[in-house]
Amino acid sequence: MFATTLSHPNPTQAALPNDLFSAIQDLKREMNAVILAHYYQDPDIQDIADYIGDSLGLSRQAADTDAAVIVFAGVHFMAETAKILNPDKLVLLPDLEAGCSLADSCPPAAFADFKAAHPDHLVVSYINCTAEIKAMSDIICTSSNAVKIVEQIPTEQPIIFAPDRNLGRYVMEQTGRALLLWQGSCMVHETFSEKRMVQLQVAHPDAEIIAHPECEPAVLRHARYIGSTTALLKYSLESDSSTFIVVTEPGIIHQMQKQAPHKQFIPAPPTNHCACNECPHMRLNTLEKLYLAMKNRSPEITLPESTRLAALRPIQRMLELS
Ligand code: SF4
Repeated sequence: MFATTLSHPNPTQAALPNDLFSAIQDLKREMNAVILAHYYQDPDIQDIADYIGDSLGLSRQAADTDAAVIVFAGVHFMAETAKILNPDKLVLLPDLEAGCSLADSCPPAAFADFKAAHPDHLVVSYINCTAEIKAMSDIICTSSNAVKIVEQIPTEQPIIFAPDRNLGRYVMEQTGRALLLWQGSCMVHETFSEKRMVQLQVAHPDAEIIAHPECEPAVLRHARYIGSTTALLKYSLESDSSTFIVVTEPGIIHQMQKQAPHKQFIPAPPTNHCACNECPHMRLNTLEKLYLAMKNRSPEITLPESTRLAALRPIQRMLELS
């Protein structure tokens, strides 16, 4: 039985070259491809990407690229956004199962009912949602520009904010606006333990706590600085402090450590003694799957044209307003 298994190796594994980095670079040139990666990807993927960023930066890159193929190392809604902006390009996602608990917390049929119950409301949706939700929205925002976008909406205009209730609450605090919140959340950012974070702060009294606005209010109130992943990176590089407790998915620490090797970055602990502060969806992508997606030109992201066009309008409004 054992010998039989060895004599019939998995063809997918057998097809993998020894030097994946070089093979991916070769494919990139042959295909005229660009690799866009989110900060929450594995360090190996970040190191081979042409651009690493948060949702806003990745959307801008996807809108501006003249490559024929976009390899999106992130989760499904991000690759979908790239496809919405680039209908004629081949958009590849290394693992089609790389979803998002936040996007899943806003099912289109239930959201359509919610929206219909509040017909006078403008819909501002966080980019972490499906194309169907984007298609039902008036303006898309990211954690980088949510406050700025809401501030530009006339004060008398009622607003639905979806799908993340924690980001929505943060925007309410920053703008003083009342928003009608969809009660969605991210499984990763809700996992941080306030108690364990405070214990960590006691152990490192000089450390600054920096946090993503998708975290719960009880965690955010301890943060010295709150911002998107790009903003957290920038802040940590510019701050005079030498130690940081980083309250977001720890993939971002790879860039922080690379750009400030003399500083210490401590990942904030989750409630349980587990690795649940790592996004299980983002981490489905691997360098091997990225190579195979390029070689096989699959899995490809596709969308019905009517959904794409309806989702494009609020994304374009975001790009104009931010
Ligand atoms: S970290 Fe949260 S919001 Fe981001 S992809 Fe993972 S589940 Fe979705």
